[in-house]
Amino acid sequence: MISTTWSKCPWLSSGVGTPIHHSREESHPRIKGPRSLDDRIAIVGAGPSGLHMAYELKKRGYSNIVVFEKRGEVGGKTYSRFYRNVWENFGAAVIGETYDRTVKLMETFNVGFEVLPQGESSTWLNNNNFVPTIQASPVPLPRLREALERYIALHRCFFDEYEGELMPRPSKDVLYKIRGTVDDFLERFNLTDARPIFYNALSFNAYGLLNETSAIYGLLFLTPATVLSLFKPEKGLFRLEGGWQNLCREMARRINVDIRLNVDILRIVRRKNVRIDYKNRISNELLTDNFDFLILSPSMNSLFDVVDFNVHELRIFTQLRHSFYVKSLINSMAPGKRSLAPIDLFPYKLEQAEYTVFRSYNSHQVENNVTGIDYQQGRRENTDPDGWMYESVLYSHTGKANPWDKQVDEYIQNQIFQHLRDFNKVNPRIVEQVKWNFYFPNYPPGVATALWDIIDMQGRYNTWYIGASVSFDYIEGVIEYNHLLLRLFQ
Ligand SMILES: Cc1cc2nc3c(=O)[nH]c(=O)nc-3n(C[C@H](O)[C@H](O)[C@H](O)COP(=O)(O)OP(=O)(O)OC[C@H]3O[C@@H](n4cnc5c(N)ncnc54)[C@H](O)[C@@H]3O)c2cc1C
Repeated sequence: MISTTWSKCPWLSSGVGTPIHHSREESHPRIKGPRSLDDRIAIVGAGPSGLHMAYELKKRGYSNIVVFEKRGEVGGKTYSRFYRNVWENFGAAVIGETYDRTVKLMETFNVGFEVLPQGESSTWLNNNNFVPTIQASPVPLPRLREALERYIALHRCFFDEYEGELMPRPSKDVLYKIRGTVDDFLERFNLTDARPIFYNALSFNAYGLLNETSAIYGLLFLTPATVLSLFKPEKGLFRLEGGWQNLCREMARRINVDIRLNVDILRIVRRKNVRIDYKNRISNELLTDNFDFLILSPSMNSLFDVVDFNVHELRIFTQLRHSFYVKSLINSMAPGKRSLAPIDLFPYKLEQAEYTVFRSYNSHQVENNVTGIDYQQGRRENTDPDGWMYESVLYSHTGKANPWDKQVDEYIQNQIFQHLRDFNKVNPRIVEQVKWNFYFPNYPPGVATALWDIIDMQGRYNTWYIGASVSFDYIEGVIEYNHLLLRLFQ
């Protein structure tokens, strides 16, 4: 055990909390993995985590790797589409300043990737009034800063420095102190002044409201480095020219691994080896293949009908819960009611009900850096060749009810069109709507220690579990988690 002693956290004695005697276990345990470089390895899922793991294993000399992907293309939740001269990101869009691993990947696979400023945003206070997001905080900046300084000190006190996405399992003492939801945690440590930062980082990324999301996810996502990056002039957020899916495509093209698309996996049975029964959706062929080792990247709770999970695995994975995330690309004529910036946040709607529009993003205007009156009045609009003035905007919605359910779907469509009416959009038309299942798979307060139980289980059943449901649903997070496993395995 490392003992982060009282003296290292002197501010705690000022009435907040009790001393922390053992901040965390010394390190993660070693894990088992493929036995030899000749092992046949099956990876399920060609999203960022599956592709990146294939790439890393290939680099380490494993040459016999097959990736099974359900969809007809790689990239998972990074799907983007080139539309009217810009990339529209229906999945991942933003890159943070602390995305060191992914920036390295982009350098390795380069070709046309550029990291650009994220663009300005406005926060609407109601349907009629907005302020620049930077001014939207209900807490004055000096108080916000002071609270964040204390948060950073507390974070370091609890977890010390650690490498990678998931800190080593904290001591019981620390686990007790970080119990409950993000709101519970902030209140417990008198950090409610820091709430706007947590709200923006978590709730506006559809990671749930602060009174429902486990505190541990806040602590995982808002590391001291991330918080500090938010105070830099560029605010630590960028966008990736060409979108994340292009990076996935480039990885898939260059890693020279057998990637099987359009695959319906019927059953995965793990005995002495791993047998995968699957159907090729194009040829309708029923096929079987055998492997020595299995790596699962989709959300584990989406695989209950597919993988022969044992009692130990089920005990952990059945506790996962998740949200849905819907993005709608909508064309309309004339600018309608606009703020002064092409990214809009609607916190009053996010709190109101599921699937209200909580963010809108005008990619063309962001891409062309159109802001201020020019943006508000649509002076530099993305006109169609026929001369009509059209705007194309991505609207985001999140909820827990299944958006494929007919009633829920109707409700979502009503919500969007109500929003469009509220903002005077003319002749709106949905160009494409993408519904993401298993978004932010996470453990509720009380069972969030599952993240470390999963580490203890890695490799034990001839299987590694990777991706969003065992780490945190953002790209740097899943890539970092891969590196963590590879370190623990070496
Ligand atoms: C709307 C939205 C916005 C986002 N914004 C950002 C952002 O700005 N920045 C950021 O860093 N992250 C963002 N994310 C999160 C990011 O996209 C994910 O963290 C990342 O894609 C996770 O990678 P993954 O490989 O673990 O999972 P996924 O990307 O979900 O990939 C899993 C793959 O497995 C496949 N699969 C599933 N089941 C099976 C099966 N049974 N058989 C075979 N294949 C299967 C899926 O089709 C998919 O291709 C966003 C996500 C969404 C949905």
